[in-house]
Amino acid sequence: MEHAKSYYAASARHKDGFPALDGDIDVDVAIVGGGFTGIATAVELAERGLRVAVCEANQIGWGATGRNGGQITGSLSGDTAMEREFKRTLGDQASEFVWDLRWRGHDIIKNRVEKYGIKCDLKFGQMQTALNKSHLRELTATFEQGCARGMQDHLEMVPADKMGEYLESDLYIGGLLNRRNMHVHSLDLCVGEALAAQSLGAQIFENTKVTAIEYGARPKLVTENGVITADKLVLAGNAYHLLEQEKLRGKLFPASLANMVTEPLDADVARAINPQDIAVYDGRFILDYYRLTADNRVMFGGGTNYSGRDSGDIAAELRPALERTFPRLKGVGIDYSWAGMDGIILNRIPQVGRLSKDVFYVQGYSGHGIALTHILADLTAREIAGEASEFNVFENVRHWSLPVGRSMGSLMIAVGMAYYRMRDRIAS
Ligand SMILES: Cc1cc2nc3c(=O)[nH]c(=O)nc-3n(C[C@H](O)[C@H](O)[C@H](O)COP(=O)(O)OP(=O)(O)OC[C@H]3O[C@@H](n4cnc5c(N)ncnc54)[C@H](O)[C@@H]3O)c2cc1C
Repeated sequence: MEHAKSYYAASARHKDGFPALDGDIDVDVAIVGGGFTGIATAVELAERGLRVAVCEANQIGWGATGRNGGQITGSLSGDTAMEREFKRTLGDQASEFVWDLRWRGHDIIKNRVEKYGIKCDLKFGQMQTALNKSHLRELTATFEQGCARGMQDHLEMVPADKMGEYLESDLYIGGLLNRRNMHVHSLDLCVGEALAAQSLGAQIFENTKVTAIEYGARPKLVTENGVITADKLVLAGNAYHLLEQEKLRGKLFPASLANMVTEPLDADVARAINPQDIAVYDGRFILDYYRLTADNRVMFGGGTNYSGRDSGDIAAELRPALERTFPRLKGVGIDYSWAGMDGIILNRIPQVGRLSKDVFYVQGYSGHGIALTHILADLTAREIAGEASEFNVFENVRHWSLPVGRSMGSLMIAVGMAYYRMRDRIAS
């Protein structure tokens, strides 16, 4: 299938695509899924000299990776649960480990972009904004925690009377600016990484849907036009993945997230509403997130629909929030709107594990996956390559499974999320 009709697909720098698999091949590691999880794992493995193949059913970055808000932040979503669960493996070191995790993905991405010269509009600067006093208290606590851990040069608490220096919006009573966080043209980053992996010998296949997995002395990925035999397999299809459901059912539930992009703004309007070109999200559980693109459009997302179904008219649903945020954009043209699915995990800790000794799965970022996918790709590759890794820290986490199918699970999560949405509304 073609990419969603997104801003990313329309403005992608690399449009040549990758070939489809045609015939049987043999590699060290075969990967299902050409999003950040699969592609970043391929880069890590190829850099270690392993023979790698990636099968993507559609196009590289077709899933959540090519549809997201492009914000690379230190938010882990499930950080409290992580600290509790990671204690099982790390004891007293768990808290330090979780803090370090917040930033590891940033370094991986920044270094990779520099190393391979990936053109993807990578920029620094992101703010979490406060709509109410409770958000402000949370941001202050994060700021203090960051300063206590030596991040004071990257962080700044912005009081209400200084917010105008960053955003032309009267919604907020303060914000936490983080200069280590970044934003990016997500599809260009993923395709750039795929090209980097290819330059190291990895085979990247598009339009190559894996239809079955065969276990055995050496497992196999079966596709319509060929079979890949490998020493190890990695399943990285996240919310779009439907293989091996008898083993994976009840673990991950798809949530549909929405995004839209305005027409290009005059440069002076873009600078007026967001003079420092930062990415932004607010402090609610179900939050609005936005940023400028390289060509002065506003990319604006929000209003998670946890039922796993795409919304009817995304632009109409998101426009009121955009206009509330920036009144001067009232009536602005919307050129693109689209939805994408990310995998929600009940405790919000990404799930990694093995379906057999040689078949790994890595999935479930609960809406915060750009940095996390790269972290888990690093851990997975190190585990496969037999190097020291903290893969087991994630693997040892206890995950709940709901004894229901994906759509029923998504609906149940939707009911829970309706509660948080109501709580956000009352508090704002
Ligand atoms: C609208 C939206 C906004 C978001 N905003 C942000 C954000 O601002 N910041 C952030 O950190 N995170 C954000 N996220 C989350 C982030 O994009 C994801 O967590 C991340 O991209 C997941 O990457 P992935 O590779 O695991 O999955 P995906 O990118 O979904 O890739 C999975 C791929 O597997 C392929 N596949 C599935 N089954 C098969 C098969 N049988 N054979 C072959 N291929 C298969 C699919 O075609 C797909 O391309 C957002 C997500 C969405 C949807």
